[in-house]
Amino acid sequence: MLINNDTIIKDDNPLLRTKSNDIPLPACKQDMELATTMMTYVKESIDPKLAEEKNLRPAVGISAIQVGIPKKITAIRIVMEEDENGDPTDVVELLWANAKIIKRSVQKAYLDMGEGCLSVTDEHPGHIQRAMRITVHAYDLTTDQWIDYKASGYLAICIQHELDHFNGVLFYDHINPNDPMAVDENAICIS
Ligand SMILES: [Zn+2]
Repeated sequence: MLINNDTIIKDDNPLLRTKSNDIPLPACKQDMELATTMMTYVKESIDPKLAEEKNLRPAVGISAIQVGIPKKITAIRIVMEEDENGDPTDVVELLWANAKIIKRSVQKAYLDMGEGCLSVTDEHPGHIQRAMRITVHAYDLTTDQWIDYKASGYLAICIQHELDHFNGVLFYDHINPNDPMAVDENAICIS
């Protein structure tokens, strides 16, 4: 399957709002190929040359429904640290199936710049408050085992964004329409 900015479905497509289903585990060959292709997308998308050549929009994550497949598969790849040449020295790669958040902190956090999404082309300015810390129960497709994964801050926000896609939820659904920039008094701003 080819994933690029033309094959990723956008929010004018009602399919994006459907709930995704668990996949049978261990994953079949077809589901593994999909997951791997999704991870390749996010990896290549942040390389300006490849992005240009292959028509990729930069992203830190993608979920299967975004290519029209209602399966609970997500690929997240975040460069946490890079050296002075811009080469990554610490990368988090999460290739998960059937993931579910089992714990959320009361403490909220939001990204100063707001969120973006491969399936959303219009601007939706506003703050999206999410849990600062989460624990996810997921099937790790890389190691073929169930894991409980703890995350906080930016990573936790990215995970919550991707797992929302399993429920047909988009980031701007969380923006308060009456006061888009409103946040809790003690919410942590991540810039
Ligand atoms: Zn998204």
